[in-house]
Amino acid sequence: MTDMNMKEYIEEAEKDLLHTYNRYRIVLDKGEGVHLYDIEGKEYLDFVAGISVFALGYGNKEYNDALKNQIDKVIHTSNYYYNVPAIEAAKALKKYSGMDRVFFTNSGAEAIEGAIKTARKYGFNKDGRTDHEIIAMNHSFHGRTMGALSVTGNPHYRDAFEPGIGNIRFADYNDLESVKKLVNDKTIAILLETVQGEGGLTPATDEFIKGIRQICDEKDILMICDEIQCGMGRTGYPFAFMKYGIKPDVITVAKALGCGVPIGAFAMTEKVGSSSLVAGDHGTTYGGNPLCCAAAAKVLEIMERDDIPGKALKTGEYLWKKLDEVAAEFTQIKEHRGRGLMQGLVFDRPVGDIINKALEKGLILINAGSDIIRFVPPLIITEADIDAMIVILKEAIAETVK
Ligand SMILES: *Cc1c(COP(=O)(O)O)cnc(C)c1O
Repeated sequence: MTDMNMKEYIEEAEKDLLHTYNRYRIVLDKGEGVHLYDIEGKEYLDFVAGISVFALGYGNKEYNDALKNQIDKVIHTSNYYYNVPAIEAAKALKKYSGMDRVFFTNSGAEAIEGAIKTARKYGFNKDGRTDHEIIAMNHSFHGRTMGALSVTGNPHYRDAFEPGIGNIRFADYNDLESVKKLVNDKTIAILLETVQGEGGLTPATDEFIKGIRQICDEKDILMICDEIQCGMGRTGYPFAFMKYGIKPDVITVAKALGCGVPIGAFAMTEKVGSSSLVAGDHGTTYGGNPLCCAAAAKVLEIMERDDIPGKALKTGEYLWKKLDEVAAEFTQIKEHRGRGLMQGLVFDRPVGDIINKALEKGLILINAGSDIIRFVPPLIITEADIDAMIVILKEAIAETVK
């Protein structure tokens, strides 16, 4: 299979892989900084970063070396033994997030599963009941496993797979009254993305976040912030909740935590940690393995040392200004939303054609829903990269929308 061209590879892929994605028709081969290259050598400016994953860009030497060194030592042990990278990664994540207890997973969806189990066990310990409810948000996205799907407020993802895990209620994002209406003595957790990603790059309002924190404080309900997409520096803060001056009881992290290796985490305060999951309640074979934890420890070290969130805040402001100009130029753009290096342009039509046109011109973009272009580049992008992106974006829009 070494001498096939892109078209031939794609034909092979379509025969062998389960068709759960409508993929863009390029076969990617390697990356360098904020650029990706396909197997025919074409260069692409990457404003997707593997969907909010590759925060440090491709080919970061320090990160690559950390992984290579760990490969030569040991890749996997088991959670029945301790390993140094997991200890270091947990310490670093605690320090960066302000949480006290960490459980490492292999994905974002599994982090959500863990957070749901944490909430149910917390409730069970409190009153021995097993009918506790979790309030989640409409237009949310929390992953594809059955538990994560059950708290995802988008029927399009859920319909064919009902029934879900049950006892989940959905409120409207940024509508505190709609949350209050659902709170009762069975409510054990309120789960929300601090900035909604898939659902449309919508940041929580100050009033909403603070209001939820207050409800949770008054009624001993766990506030769970899903920081899988918006965390790890993306919005200009180590974690998006930090902008609001509040602290959740539980957070979920993944995507940029490993910057390319599969690792996620759910983390919690000591109060929750000491009254929820105990030995035998939860586990994973791969979660917390030395290879992925070596990556996470290194990512956290670089993020903090080089103030990557601070840089993202600054370039995020520049991106905001530039996308505002684009939005002013095209009447087909209805809204510009987001925070930091997590922004979206909402169009009055599906954006697939624009994205394909940009791809032809060497720019990788992705949608969020059918009518929003999402911008989640590596956090190391520069203003010059943004300028280069804007040129192609404007061409792609002009040549596509009529
Ligand atoms: C991507 C994402 C998930 C799911 O993570 P996976 O690693 O794909 O399972 C959950 N929540 C949010 C907010 C996400 O963006």
